[in-house]
Amino acid sequence: MSNKELAEVLFTDTLDLEDVLKKYPRRDKFITRYAPSPTGFTHLGNLYTAFLNYVLAKQNKGLFILRIEDTDQKRKVKEGIENIIKDLNDFGLTFDEGPLNLEKEKGSYGPYIQSKRQSIYDSFIKYLVTIGRAYPCFCTDEYLESLHKEQENKKVMTGYYGSYAKCRDLTKEEIVKNIKLGIPYVIRFKSLNKESDTIKIKDGVIKETTLPANIFDIVIRKKDGLPTYHFAHVVDDYLMGTSLVIRDHNWFTSLPIHLELFASLNLTTLKYAHIPPVMINDNGVIRKLSKRKDVWAKVSFYKELGIPTEALKIYLATLINTNFEGWYQNNLDKDILEFPFSLNKISKSGPLFDKDKLYNISKNYISRLKAKDLYKLLLDYTKIYDIEFYKLITSYKDKTIAILNIEREIPKPRKDYYSLGVIKDYIWFMYDELFNNLTYEWQQIKDINLIKDIVTTYITKYYYEGISKEEWLNSLKLLANDFGYATSNKEYKENPNKYKGNISDITTVLRVFLTSKKDTFDLYEIMRILGLEEMKRRITLLK
Ligand code: GLU
Repeated sequence: MSNKELAEVLFTDTLDLEDVLKKYPRRDKFITRYAPSPTGFTHLGNLYTAFLNYVLAKQNKGLFILRIEDTDQKRKVKEGIENIIKDLNDFGLTFDEGPLNLEKEKGSYGPYIQSKRQSIYDSFIKYLVTIGRAYPCFCTDEYLESLHKEQENKKVMTGYYGSYAKCRDLTKEEIVKNIKLGIPYVIRFKSLNKESDTIKIKDGVIKETTLPANIFDIVIRKKDGLPTYHFAHVVDDYLMGTSLVIRDHNWFTSLPIHLELFASLNLTTLKYAHIPPVMINDNGVIRKLSKRKDVWAKVSFYKELGIPTEALKIYLATLINTNFEGWYQNNLDKDILEFPFSLNKISKSGPLFDKDKLYNISKNYISRLKAKDLYKLLLDYTKIYDIEFYKLITSYKDKTIAILNIEREIPKPRKDYYSLGVIKDYIWFMYDELFNNLTYEWQQIKDINLIKDIVTTYITKYYYEGISKEEWLNSLKLLANDFGYATSNKEYKENPNKYKGNISDITTVLRVFLTSKKDTFDLYEIMRILGLEEMKRRITLLK
C-alpha cells in the first residue's frame, strides 16, 4: 500500500490541496490578525495584542482580521465567541474580516471560526500523509505517560520523537487494521530533524536568534478530527495571507515547529513578531499580569470602572511604545493612529502596568471632553451600571450637561473625574431627588441657628437669579460683614481680633448648606444651576 492509498483511506472525500489553495488567492495588502481562543474573558494582554495588530494594519493601509481559534473544544466557554466580538466592537477595533456572530461573517478568506474549517485542514493533512510527512498514531495516554517516565529514568529528552515515535514504524496494513477495529487515533507530523539541528529565527521584536530545531512528531490532528493550534496557525495564516503574525511571546519557542510545518507543505513562511506580556509590580516582585490574581487583567473591569474606551486606548498606546506619550502631549487633538507605532520600540521585557498612570490619562482625557460628549458617555455607562442615576440624568438632560460643564471647556479644566464611575460621587447633590440622608460637613461655624440665620439672610437679602460672578463675590463680602467676619483673608490676618472669623467660614457655610460637603466645585455655578427655589427648599432641610 502506498502513502497515497493510505491517505485515501484516512480521508475519503477531502478536497484536493491544489483546489483549496486556488480558493485563497495571494493578496498584496498588509494583513494582521487577532486570533483569540474563546476560553473566557478578554485579558488586557489580549486587548493589547489586538490593538497593536489593529494599529499596524491601519497604518499600513492594510486589513485587520479576527479569527476565532476554537479547536480546543474542551476549553471553549459559553458565549466566548460573542464576547470576543463584543469586546472588539466596544473598544472600536473594527475588523475588516471575521465573524460578526456565530453564523454571519465578513470577508472572503473564511470561515473565520476554526471549528468550521476542518475540511480545509484535512486537505493539508492528507497531503502530508501522501508525501510521508504525517501518520496516524494509536498510542494511548497511558502508553505516552509510561514513555515519559521511561525517558525521565533514562535521562533523555521526553516526548514523541525519533526512535521513541513508535507509530512511525507501523505498516500500512497494521494502520488500516487498527482503523477498521475502530481504535481512536491522532495524526502526527513526522519531523526530519536531528537533536543537534538548530534553526535561525528572525523576529520583529526579539530580532535574530538561533533556536534548537523541532524534533518532535507533534500531533496535528486530534482524536476529535480538529487540528492542534500549531497546525491550524500555519494553514490559516498562510491561506488568509497574514503578512505579520503578532502574537504572545509564549509562542516563540514553538516557532521551529511552525517553520518546519511551512517547509514540509512548501509554503513560504510568514513574518513574526512575538510580543512580551504586560507585567505588574506585585509588592516589589515584577510578574505577568494574571487572570487569576489581578482584577486589572480583565478588560470588563475597566468598563465597570468607567474608564472611557478612548482613554484606555491611549493608555495601551503608552504600553506599546514609550515614546508615544511625548508625542501625544504635543498632539492632543490628533487621532492616536497618526502616531507612528513601531515594533522596534516595543519593550523586550514587557511593559509595566501602572494604575496611577492609567487614572491620570483617563482623568486628563475626561477633563478635555466637551460637556455634551461627557454626558453621552455617562449615559452609556449609567445605563449599564447605575440605572437609577441613568433615569435621573436622562430626565434632567440640560441640567446635567450644565453641571458637567462646570470648570470645563476652559484652558485649565477641572480634573476631578478619573472615570465615569466616580462622577456621581462628585455631583449627586445637584439633584433634589438625591439630596437626602445628609451628613453636613460643617467646619468653623457649627451652631445650627447661626447657620440658618446666615443662609436665610443670604438668600433673602443678597442672592437673585442671574447674578453676575462679580456681583456674587461682592454679595459674599457683604454677608460676611453683616455677621462680623472679615471680607478677605488679608483683612483678617492684619486684624484677627476684630473679627469672628474669615469670609471663607461664611462661604463654607453656604457650600455645606447646599451640598453637605466642604469641598466641591465652583459655588457660584452650584447656586446658578440649583436656582433660588431649590436653595430656599434646602433651608427647610436644616435641622
Ligand atoms: N489562539 C491563540 C491564543 O489565544 C492565539 C495565538 C496567535 O495569535 O497565533 O493564545
